Amino acid sequence: MKKVLVLEDEANIRSFVVINLKRAGYEAIEAATGEEALEQIARNPDIKVALLDIMLPDMDGFEVCRRIRAGDNKIGIIMLTARTQEMDKVTGLMTGADDYVTKPFSPAELTARIDALYRRTGGEQEPDAAQVSQPPFLLNTRNRTLEKNGQRVKLTQIEYSIVKLFMDNPGKALSREEILDAVWGRDYFGELKIVDVNVRRLRIKIEDDPTNPAYITTVWGYGYKWGL
Ligand code: CA
Repeated sequence: MKKVLVLEDEANIRSFVVINLKRAGYEAIEAATGEEALEQIARNPDIKVALLDIMLPDMDGFEVCRRIRAGDNKIGIIMLTARTQEMDKVTGLMTGADDYVTKPFSPAELTARIDALYRRTGGEQEPDAAQVSQPPFLLNTRNRTLEKNGQRVKLTQIEYSIVKLFMDNPGKALSREEILDAVWGRDYFGELKIVDVNVRRLRIKIEDDPTNPAYITTVWGYGYKWGL
C-alpha cells in the first residue's frame, strides 16, 4: 500500500483528506502536530509523500519540512497553504517542499498532485543506470544524486529531475511548459510558477553566484537553458 503522511491539526480537514486518499488507493498515516509527523516519518520509512499543513500548534509546517530534509529524506513534500497566506512568502519559505496546494482544494486536485509526486519519488529505477558527467557536475542516475566538484549537493526529487532534464538537453532552451510536463507530468494541475520556484532554489544550491547564473540560464519570455 502506498503510504502518505497527512499532517493537519484540524481534525475535520484531516479526516476529509484521509477519506479521499483512501478512496484513491493510498494508506494515510495521520499526524496532528509537527512532533507526531516527525515520529511517524521515522517509524514509517516507506512513506513516500507527506502533506504538511503550515499553521500547527507546536511548530510551523516549514520547520517540519526543514527537519525532514535535514535527515536527507527523499520523501515528496506538499505544503497545504491557506488562501490568506501570501503566496510570495509561502514560496520563499518552501525551502524543501516540492509543491503546494491551496485550501480549499478539491479531492481530485489533491490526489492528482500526490499521484504525480508519487511517480517522481516512487524510486522508478532507470534501466540504463549510469553517471552523466558534465564538469563540474556529476549526476548519478542510479541513486539519483548530484555532485559538484566532488561534493554532494542535497536535492529534492523534483530538483533532481529538473537537473537531469537540463543535463540531458545541454544548451537547449526549454520552455516552462516543457519542464512542467517532463518533471511534474502532463496531468499536473498546478501553475507554471512552481517551475520558477524550483529553479530559483536550484540556483542557490548549484550556482557559484545565484544572482548571476552560469548553469541554469534564463531564456527571457520562454524558460530556461542549461549553460550559457
Ligand atoms: Ca492548521
